[in-house]
Amino acid sequence: MPDHRSRLRTIPVHTLANGHQLVLHVHEMESGRPGPTLGVIATIHGDEPLSIEIVRRLLQEVDLSRLRGRIRALPVANPYAYQSSTRNLPLDMSNLNRIFPGDPDGMLSEQLAHVICSHFLPGLDALVDLHSGGIWPTVDYAYIHDEGADLSRVFGLDLLFKGPSYAGSLGNHARQNGIPTVVSELGGGQADNERFIGRGVRGIVNVMRHLGMLPGRPELPDRQTIVHDIRILRPHHGGMMLSEIGVERLGQAVPVGTLLGRVVSPYTFETLEEVRAPFDPSIMVLTRQRFTKVEPGDYGFMVADGAGAETV
Ligand SMILES: [Zn+2]
Repeated sequence: MPDHRSRLRTIPVHTLANGHQLVLHVHEMESGRPGPTLGVIATIHGDEPLSIEIVRRLLQEVDLSRLRGRIRALPVANPYAYQSSTRNLPLDMSNLNRIFPGDPDGMLSEQLAHVICSHFLPGLDALVDLHSGGIWPTVDYAYIHDEGADLSRVFGLDLLFKGPSYAGSLGNHARQNGIPTVVSELGGGQADNERFIGRGVRGIVNVMRHLGMLPGRPELPDRQTIVHDIRILRPHHGGMMLSEIGVERLGQAVPVGTLLGRVVSPYTFETLEEVRAPFDPSIMVLTRQRFTKVEPGDYGFMVADGAGAETV
């Protein structure tokens, strides 16, 4: 049952060979009082279901009697990738978040991206694009760029990454079109779900307070750390990753050379590879629970260069 306080509309995308109609479901929560329009989008990557729950809770918890403006929420931007729990859309193997603004005459994912850009983005004053770590990894940070930096700050996560924006990402496209955007990376890996969901909802409420859509001031941590250099540590061997760094240590610094995890063969039990912290110190950005499956080239761990970090 959709929340009766929000209106559900569907946006047709295309008909597939199996006869199914791909449609996007958009929730519009409107107060009737003038104010900005905030877009919230989730599940551009299909293996990040936590973000859907952040959207659902947000729409449940927002006090409609105090709202100004409207929320436009698209909880599942990539339904077929969600169905298969994969980052990419399996029908054409594409990463939707590298092909925005898409192409109305392009391949399947490009057509989907085009529909999102032409039917979801227009009229937005700001956008929150929710991501998480995927099926196995867990993350905890938000991107910050010069345009919309205030929104990234008030989203209120402890760790902010001021790095290059991926060409073809929705955030990049939205910013280029004058829509300030927060891209958050929260949770995943089925670790500590409630805490990450709560922080996601609080982040969006903070953004709404900052924009004057809700009364009150954003709730912010005492200090936030901005990092400029993040390295993805992708293993060269697949198997079982035995992580030495629990999810509770995300955002914390470890000395250079610290053993982050070992890739162990699930067949022979031999250690195939050790993954160690490359920076002195290394701030943990992405980690895994103790036992997770890993393939060569996966997101093994992510760490930030602590020496170049600034505290605000
Ligand atoms: Zn993602």
